[in-house]
Amino acid sequence: MNLFKTIDLGNQPEKKADVVSENAEKVKCLIIGSGPAGYTAAIYAARANLSPVMIQGMEPGGQLTTTTEVENFPGYPEGVTGAVMMEDLKAQAERFGTEVRWGEVTQVDFSQRPFKVVVDENKVMEAEAVIISTGATAKYLGLKSEEEFKGSGVSGCATCDGFFYKDKDVAVVGGGDTACEEATYLANICKKVYMIVRKDYLRASKPMQNRVFNTKNIEILFEHNTKEITGTDVVTGATLIKKMGTNEEEEVKINIDGFFLAIGHTPNSQVFKEYIETDEVGYIKTIPGTSKTNVKGVFAAGDVQDNTYRQAVTAAASGCMAALDVERFLGEE
Ligand code: NDP
Repeated sequence: MNLFKTIDLGNQPEKKADVVSENAEKVKCLIIGSGPAGYTAAIYAARANLSPVMIQGMEPGGQLTTTTEVENFPGYPEGVTGAVMMEDLKAQAERFGTEVRWGEVTQVDFSQRPFKVVVDENKVMEAEAVIISTGATAKYLGLKSEEEFKGSGVSGCATCDGFFYKDKDVAVVGGGDTACEEATYLANICKKVYMIVRKDYLRASKPMQNRVFNTKNIEILFEHNTKEITGTDVVTGATLIKKMGTNEEEEVKINIDGFFLAIGHTPNSQVFKEYIETDEVGYIKTIPGTSKTNVKGVFAAGDVQDNTYRQAVTAAASGCMAALDVERFLGEE
């Protein structure tokens, strides 16, 4: 449902205009997304009396809720699970008065202030300033069979679904830090873990690689690509191509019950694209050293604007920057 009236501009393309609802809720600072960036922005904004309202998004707590142990966030000498850390951040944001709400932003109009934001296709909000902290989402290979078995053997999150594959054989696709982390996590639960890596080396950091190499029940299949995931109602195997595109090319079949994707992420910026500039991948462009986007009063923080570092601590830091930028922006008026 489109909540924006369309107006006839003669021979010009249709443009979105005013929001239909006259009862839009007015807020000073609206934060979209609830990962470390969003919660840190909320803590700072709330303490600065900006009465922030946060719309959590489809994955409350963000990507960290699907990770295992976080050992590199300063202040947790023993490590902490992602889920606990996000609960702590939420409690801290709420302690200072942030209103945290379920819901997904389905449409925006950033053409003028106050900015209009539609939540769950039916609730209209008006915000003096907006912080976008919607993060990024796991990528899939794009195979038809992948779609077919989503939820019955194919997963984008080992920590969410690994439990269902106790003592079974599974595969993880990817050669980065996420893939290594997921493979070692699964190796604790499953009988055997194949890592399907398209190059002849792992892209992951050295410590992560070492964890994989030192885990007995992980077998790395270098220079393998996935052709198909097989099975009837549930996944029972996968067909791989070894050394694809060379004269040594060969089809390889493995028997598995679970197929996990760990091949990177797509920034969640789609809903803002009409107004907010992004790079070719979709990462929101910010003015270097700030959280400012091309729209004055709209700020971005965390993985949705960070293609380089993508760490919880860098996301949190950029959330702090965004809240300070909002405070200054509103204060200047
Ligand atoms: P990366 O982009 O680092 O790695 C993606 C992996 O997937 C690469 O090995 C890539 O292969 C492979 N890949 C991509 N597309 C395909 C495809 N279509 N078919 C097969 N393989 C494919 O993503 P990650 O999610 O691993 O990491 C993202 C960032 O987060 C990194 O900066 C990482 O360091 C960080 N991170 C840190 C962690 C930690 O410190 N605890 C944990 C997890 C992530 P190729 O190499 O050939 O391109």
